[in-house]
Amino acid sequence: MRSVHKSQPSHKRKEPGEDPAAKPEIDDGQIDWREQTFNGGLTGPVEKVSTPLELITQLRMVMVDIDPKYLNPMLFASGKGSHASRLYHKTVSLWLDRHPLGKKAEVRHTGSGLHALFHLEPIVVFGNTADRDRWAVVVRAVQNALPSDPNAPGLTALTRPIGSTNSKNDRKVKQLRAGEPITPEEVLRFVDELRRRPFATVAGILHGADRITPCPVCKADGSTLAARDRVGRCYDCGTVELVQLFGPLMSPPSTEGEE
Ligand SMILES: [Zn+2]
Repeated sequence: MRSVHKSQPSHKRKEPGEDPAAKPEIDDGQIDWREQTFNGGLTGPVEKVSTPLELITQLRMVMVDIDPKYLNPMLFASGKGSHASRLYHKTVSLWLDRHPLGKKAEVRHTGSGLHALFHLEPIVVFGNTADRDRWAVVVRAVQNALPSDPNAPGLTALTRPIGSTNSKNDRKVKQLRAGEPITPEEVLRFVDELRRRPFATVAGILHGADRITPCPVCKADGSTLAARDRVGRCYDCGTVELVQLFGPLMSPPSTEGEE
């Protein structure tokens, strides 16, 4: 991991008129630093590391942004710690552990939410814009397999470096699980699985079964939702579409986030 922050310049040169007092760089606690999920993986202030899509040539990790403010408070209702920490321990760790790819995700507590990071090894180098467009679709598909922030960026995503400070609440960014690298082929296989069996794949991640009792959509007594490849079937509420699996997990639009 490289950094744009150079605390010890290797070649100290005095330029005429240079103000020495301005030079010694103060450790600002890496307040609101970001880390590129693309290109060189640089860390630094957001204005230094954010990059427009057309300048992105490499993908280092796929980031899924899971923010308690978009989710049903039932998923992190009780227990110790922040909303994000409870959300991880009660819910997100279970989702990830139900899929071989999810098991390999790194998870960071960003101070207010969770970043699940799928580290690619080797990193993907885009040969041309068609390659980049294809991976943009792949990244979006992975993000959509979990109840993630619907407005989150795809290829241009920035995470927060471990140990940096989130100024919204002065919390330090912490790693909740280390994760391990995955190959680009594993990601493509997962996206292919999502294409062929979208409902069954997502139901498996969110509920850990292909028969879910009671049905999470109608919640009727004695109901069961059977996960087929593309839709679900429930005797009580009928055909269930993929989007309906996410509905009960999302927060009503008016829900206030944690400060
Ligand atoms: Zn039902």
